[in-house]
Amino acid sequence: MVQNPLRIVMLGPPGAGKGTQAVLLAKSRAIPHISTGEILREAIANDSPLGREVKAVLDAGNLVSDKLMIDLIRQRLSKGDSDAGFVLDGFPRTLAQAQALSSLLGEMGKPLTNIVELNVSDSVLLERIRLRGAKGSGRSDDNVEVAARRLKVYWEQTAPVSAYYEERKELSKVDGLGTIEEVQNRISAGLGGVVKSLKK
Ligand code: AMP
Repeated sequence: MVQNPLRIVMLGPPGAGKGTQAVLLAKSRAIPHISTGEILREAIANDSPLGREVKAVLDAGNLVSDKLMIDLIRQRLSKGDSDAGFVLDGFPRTLAQAQALSSLLGEMGKPLTNIVELNVSDSVLLERIRLRGAKGSGRSDDNVEVAARRLKVYWEQTAPVSAYYEERKELSKVDGLGTIEEVQNRISAGLGGVVKSLKK
């Protein structure tokens, strides 16, 4: 059975588990998982001109410029693999990015189908990021100081993105507490149960 394309944005503060859930969702629907953070980290690892431009910004827990990010996402979404749908993870992170995404997808005739926000309290987030750092995630921005900075940036610059979608009655809020599978099932239920749990 051919399912309708799922064009989804995963929102949520750093440490909410949106990366994990975005990967699972993309796998279960066989659609690309598009993580702007991953694209940037890869550019840094490859020491490309983009990587050299953004490394200090990532290491400080700040946001890369809207212009650069919007160009990057425009290029990524123009690849044919997103015809089947996509899960966006880490974009949009500012109101300007959200507006640019709406008009870009409008031009493409591929509007978003779902916006899911994972909700987790700040104290749980800091603890999760601390544990991730202690386990050695390999991410140079996974330490308590940078985590606190990233949370502050989230509340100042990214929270308005949720409000933007909420005003348009497009936001589904999902409780991000619990096991990976519990959260996955909640997201799936919110999408109308279209996503099968990956657990056998
Ligand atoms: P993430 O893996 O989504 O947590 O992203 C890691 C870092 O990449 C962020 O802390 C930002 O420095 C940068 N980044 C990722 N996506 C964006 C975006 N949409 N806008 C600005 N900066 C971004």
